[in-house]
Order: sequence, then C-alpha cells, then structure tokens
Amino acid sequence: MTAQNWTIVTILKTTADFFSQKNIENPRLNAELLLGHVLDMPRVRLYLEHDRPLSPEEVKRYREQVRRRVRHEPLQYIVGSAGFMGMEFEVTPAVLIPRPETELLAEKVLELKETMDAPRLLDIGTGSGALAVSLARLWPQSRVTALDISAAALQVAQNNAQRLLAGEAERVTFYRHNVLADWPRDLRDTYDVIVSNPPYIRRDEMDGLQREVRDYEPANALTDGGDGLVFYRRLFDLTAKGILHTRHLFVEMSGSQPEKIRALCAGYNFPLIKIYPDLNNRDRILHIQF
Ligand code: GLN
Repeated sequence: MTAQNWTIVTILKTTADFFSQKNIENPRLNAELLLGHVLDMPRVRLYLEHDRPLSPEEVKRYREQVRRRVRHEPLQYIVGSAGFMGMEFEVTPAVLIPRPETELLAEKVLELKETMDAPRLLDIGTGSGALAVSLARLWPQSRVTALDISAAALQVAQNNAQRLLAGEAERVTFYRHNVLADWPRDLRDTYDVIVSNPPYIRRDEMDGLQREVRDYEPANALTDGGDGLVFYRRLFDLTAKGILHTRHLFVEMSGSQPEKIRALCAGYNFPLIKIYPDLNNRDRILHIQF
C-alpha cells in the first residue's frame, strides 16, 4: 500500500486480495474486521461509508495490523477481543481464544437454571474467563470459583469479570492452581456444577494444527503434552474419589477422540452420563450427573 488516497472500498479490495494471496481464510471478512477495528466502526458502516477517505495515520495503523494477520496471528489477538455468549471478552496471547463449540457447554449448564436458586459453580482452567464470567452473568444468583495455572490468564479473566459483571464482579473468585497438583484444602468444597474445557490436543497433533493456533495460542491451554486424556482422567478421578463433590460435571470433549473419552468415562461407573453433539454432529459436551 503506497501513499495513494485510499478509501474504505479501495483499501478493503486490495487487502482482501492480499490476504487471499497469502492463504488467509475468509480474506474479505478479515479485511473488514480489521478495518472496522482501526476505524472503530461496526462492519455495516464500512458499507454505508464506503467512499470515506482514510487518513495517512489510519492507513498506517491498518497496515501494521494487516502485516500481523499475514503472519497468521489470530484476528482476535490483533483486535484484542473475541465474542462468546453474546459478550465481548478481552483476549491476549496468554489465553485461549474462546470457541463457539464451548458455547454449547454454557448453554447446557444454563438449562439447569430452573432447578437451582443460588448455585456454586467451579470452572477448571478458566483462561479468558469465558465460561466463568458468562455463566455468572447469565445466571444471576450464582457464585463462581475459577481456576487457572497461569497468572497472566487470570489477569485477563479478572479484567473480563470486572468489565462484564460490573458491580457484581465479586461473584467470581479466581485462584491460581495447577489442576494436576495436590488439591488444596480451601478448594475442597461442594459445588453444584463443575465445568471444564481442558487442554485436550494430543502432543502428536500439535504440529498439524493451523498456524494461527499452533504458533500463537498458549500451548498449555491446548495440549496436555501427552495423549490428550490427562485432564479427563484427572477430572474423573477428582470427582470419583470425592476430592471434589458436585451434582453435575460438564466437560468439553476433544473433536479428535471422543470415543476414547467416552470409554474412559464409562470405566468410572458414574450414575448418569449424557453426551451432546455440536452443530457438526460430533460428540462435544459430556455431562455427568451424580
Ligand atoms: N475455559 C476457557 C475456554 O473455554 C479456556 C479453556 C482452555 O484454556 N483450555 O475458552
């Protein structure tokens, strides 16, 4: 992009072509979302004001962001936010970008709303706080405990709680804890619902991931460094052995080995197990009722 007189429509066309040359998926959408971010405009306004000229400063900022995207940095890290359950979550490279599949987990939890008044929820591996904060907001009387191993992730989650829960942010309590380490006494509590979207990618799957994921998202939020089942074993053990007491455990399942997770779970003789498919009809959410 030279110092020519860019307008919204011309810069979008050039950028979309550039992205498609560089094998960025959904080139036009990416060009629009980044420009919307730089100009602080919703996408629809880009169309309504397509002849609006861009200042040299705007062109410079846009160009910097386009360069980052071409290096396969995820759009959400560049704009600093991601949508989840109709809310905008701050995201940084310290946290996994919340995924649409995980919304199904939140929706299944919220179906229990009629059955409990002031539930206590536990989110294991909270990352951006997507589950903890959205559940707290959409289930007004709930109290949520949210754990993560990463202090940097907890900071992001805390910011999200402050912003999205405003005066009620204290309904979510954050703890730094390694789920695989000894379970601390003050977290040995009874929860009505436990949720987790654990790192479930197998070590040998990591190289084959999309560059956006492999090169930018936090490895310890993606993989357990082993067979992809480490956290399921741990969560099933914690509840089966009574270290954690709960009425409902919801976990997201790996898209690549749901049958292994089902088999593992079946070995525990839990009283009631339900599995819900995602929109691609793959087993995605596991719900154990105690
Ligand atoms: N709970 C967060 C989410 O679902 C983070 C999950 C993770 O980092 N594995 O987005």
